[in-house]
Amino acid sequence: MDQFTIGKAQVRRVEELSIRLPFDMFGASDEMVAANAGWLKPAWLGNDGNWDMVVQSWIVIVDDRVIVVDPCVGNGRSLPAFEIFDQLDTPFIERFAACGISPELVDAVVCTHLHSDHCGWNTVLRDGKYVPTFPNARYFMGKREVERWDYRLPGYNHIPENASIFENSVLPILEAGLAEVIGDSHAISPSLHAELADGHTLGHMALHLTSGERHGWFTGDAFHHPIELLHPELDEHSCENYPLTVATRERLISAFIAQGALIIPAHFTAPHAGYLRETNGTRQFEPLASKQA
Ligand SMILES: [Zn+2]
Repeated sequence: MDQFTIGKAQVRRVEELSIRLPFDMFGASDEMVAANAGWLKPAWLGNDGNWDMVVQSWIVIVDDRVIVVDPCVGNGRSLPAFEIFDQLDTPFIERFAACGISPELVDAVVCTHLHSDHCGWNTVLRDGKYVPTFPNARYFMGKREVERWDYRLPGYNHIPENASIFENSVLPILEAGLAEVIGDSHAISPSLHAELADGHTLGHMALHLTSGERHGWFTGDAFHHPIELLHPELDEHSCENYPLTVATRERLISAFIAQGALIIPAHFTAPHAGYLRETNGTRQFEPLASKQA
């Protein structure tokens, strides 16, 4: 689903790429896979044992503002320790423009966290220098997250897979004076609030959209696959703090169910978003249907 509404908010999707990865990365038991095969196959688990991880950004038009959530990897980034994102050359910006939004029209960019695939297009390389892609935007990034990845601070914990991200995608924004470094709970606009949802990274945030009676959650990487909505204890070994991830997932899951919220993660394959329903104690993932767009 490339376009849908939540109350008065319009949401548009821009895809950077899609990669097939082994489903066994989630550590689901054979019994768990068998019990969920009815809805997992084939959309969420192919017969080859793989799943599609999509890298995508969300554009939210709400409160008379254009807000970009998680601007993907970027072209030409040197990420030798994370081969699937190394030296990309995708028409992301052309696809972005095809949504009817030019980079100059963007009022705000929000990075749920500062992994390579969530802040890369913060900047573009121009004349040998990384400069802001969205020159008129304020860029919202969590204080915990900015401090986590600032290699200049004492105690910095280097992760090769995220090498150069701070230098290329964050520092130029700070230096341009376009950054809004925010606390654990922050109103991006009247309808969109950022809240700490940590664990995947130490300052990871989720965005809660409220419009009229409707709710949506941009969940970044709190969930990579819908199996984690039903089994939040699964560990795909990409988290900085796994117990915190599980606690965050359980808290978010309670909110999704109570609010009837649309869940809009960073990496779900088509239709890219959905609901978690609970009936008589049984939970079920319900992908967003085209009639709801
Ligand atoms: Zn990610």
